[in-house]
Amino acid sequence: MPFDVSAIPQVLWKCPICNIEEGLKVKTEGLVFKKHWIVCESCGAKWADPSKNDGMTLIQGPAEHLGFRDLNGWYNLANWQIQLAPIEVSVPIIIKKGEAVLKLGRADHFKSKTRRVRSAGSYSGVSFKVAKGVRFSTGGYSPGPAQSVEETVKDDEGEFILTNKRLIFNGNRKPVNMDLKKIIAIDVENGYLEVGYGQKTHLFRFPSDSMFKWQAYTLGAIKAFCD
Ligand SMILES: [Zn+2]
Repeated sequence: MPFDVSAIPQVLWKCPICNIEEGLKVKTEGLVFKKHWIVCESCGAKWADPSKNDGMTLIQGPAEHLGFRDLNGWYNLANWQIQLAPIEVSVPIIIKKGEAVLKLGRADHFKSKTRRVRSAGSYSGVSFKVAKGVRFSTGGYSPGPAQSVEETVKDDEGEFILTNKRLIFNGNRKPVNMDLKKIIAIDVENGYLEVGYGQKTHLFRFPSDSMFKWQAYTLGAIKAFCD
């Protein structure tokens, strides 16, 4: 199975060695025969061959961690305990009494749309040419069967705001306000962060952040403030 190197910094959104957030970057050398490296921009840890055997080899870093581990092994090395504390930041939303902003980031909001389309129909019966460009048909035209096509479209962009009470998406449209207590699901699925809220599922992508990070933050806030 081909290994998607670009997914590594998404999954390992904390450096397994120094625990810095969003520290890992993919470096590529070569044009035709590409060689990839994973480096931590904070502690200088360096991994080679991230495309082999579903893992990567630490070639620069603390002696006790040098060598090969699979992605799970590196994942398990990081400390995934989420620390959430109020941050001083001005946000364009009304913060309620007792509410504090914990995290803030850029996000794109997507909508899943189902469209009914008809496939091309067909003529039945005999058809012959009566004049240049004009055809005569003895039968009728039957339309093709209707089909549902599901498509995901970006419908807004804005700020993703996590507080100790709510998850808010503030874009150009009406803000999406989700009470943390009423979030029923939060999954990374098909390249989106899916937030299940009541009957609706909101889909998000983050232009510069890992969606696993936002999943962890949100789950951490639910755990810390809703029990
Ligand atoms: Zn590091």
